[in-house]
Amino acid sequence: MTKILFLILLLAQFGYRMMLQMLSRKQVNKPLPASVADIYDAAEYDKWRRYNGKKDGLSIISGGVTLVINIVLFCTNIMAWLYYLLPGGEVAKAILLFLIMAGVDTVISLPIEYVFNFKIEAEFGFNRITPKTFVADAIKNALVGVVLNFVIFMLVFVAHKLLGDWFGVIAFVGIGIIMFAISAASSVFLKLFNKFTPLPEGELRTTLCTMFENEGYKLKDIYVMDASKRTTKANAYCGGIGKFKQIVIYDNLLNNYSDGEITAVFAHELAHFKNRDTTQMTLFSLVNFLPIVVMMTWLMLDGKVSESFGFAEPSLLFAFYVSFGGVIEIVTKLISIPFNYISRAMERKADTFACKVGYGDELVAALRKLHKDSLADMNPHPTVVKLTMNHPPLHERIELVEAWKGSEH
Ligand SMILES: [Zn+2]
Repeated sequence: MTKILFLILLLAQFGYRMMLQMLSRKQVNKPLPASVADIYDAAEYDKWRRYNGKKDGLSIISGGVTLVINIVLFCTNIMAWLYYLLPGGEVAKAILLFLIMAGVDTVISLPIEYVFNFKIEAEFGFNRITPKTFVADAIKNALVGVVLNFVIFMLVFVAHKLLGDWFGVIAFVGIGIIMFAISAASSVFLKLFNKFTPLPEGELRTTLCTMFENEGYKLKDIYVMDASKRTTKANAYCGGIGKFKQIVIYDNLLNNYSDGEITAVFAHELAHFKNRDTTQMTLFSLVNFLPIVVMMTWLMLDGKVSESFGFAEPSLLFAFYVSFGGVIEIVTKLISIPFNYISRAMERKADTFACKVGYGDELVAALRKLHKDSLADMNPHPTVVKLTMNHPPLHERIELVEAWKGSEH
């Protein structure tokens, strides 16, 4: 019975993924909404479409391969067979099993990665990697995968030893508390990795301070973060709680956007801050752990499941693989649908706030640049938006600003 359930979940996940891709492929041939039609020029857009079409095709193949592997892994007793064949205790067996899985995974994903880098990326001029680096990267990635899996497994292992079969539930509460603490002190963590310099006195600083003061926030300082060391993406945020509250602007944003555009981005962020959206999103991301916790607890409490997969008793390693593997991916995806809906509503509210404080046009200008720079999809299928996106598509955001300007204010 459990095997059938796992099989259904795996097939549902694959079917869901295929459906999203088919919708996207159909959508790509439709004309762009007028508000975003001029962001890419005709040649750029054609290139973008061909690039994404090829990437999608490859992704379908890789999804199919993953499905077959998962079916073999979860619907046969191969894991138990390996487990009892391998020498050593539970921990040694775990390391060996992780090594074998990483090896298999590397061998299978290598040709797909190869096609991606040396056929698709190369054709469109994005590829910078040499075959030598490619192989070295593949090995490094496999090893990192082993280490990461093992570290997480050891945490689960120790938690199980200390807390018993209900460890998942207890750990869930613990992780929840830690996540809120981290988001509250996010500025402290960022300081470990980035350099922060105060934004110099001037017009921009004065405008931003006034905008925040109008909403009742007294700013001590605005910081510029050296994000360009790691990414070309531009961003800004208002983070932290209470004493750790911090207003940060990425240097990419500061250097490449006009003062008006920067202020518009901050108006949007200020709205998130006022509405406590970040705290709510932390709560949502916590909900994503629930399927893992439920699955883990079920497999540890119900020995029959492990038994039907060839294990003599409830196996932590087996529970780990099922709970963190592809079996419950579809559940996580479905859970995120209502949260994406709420998130899109939050984004619209933040955009409206930027309009209210007089930065609608600048927001549109900034969003157009941000979307172009990240090679975003200008016209995602409405169903794909509903199911997967936590921001409204760009044309909807622009239309919202236009509609706001058109109404009486
Ligand atoms: Zn936002």
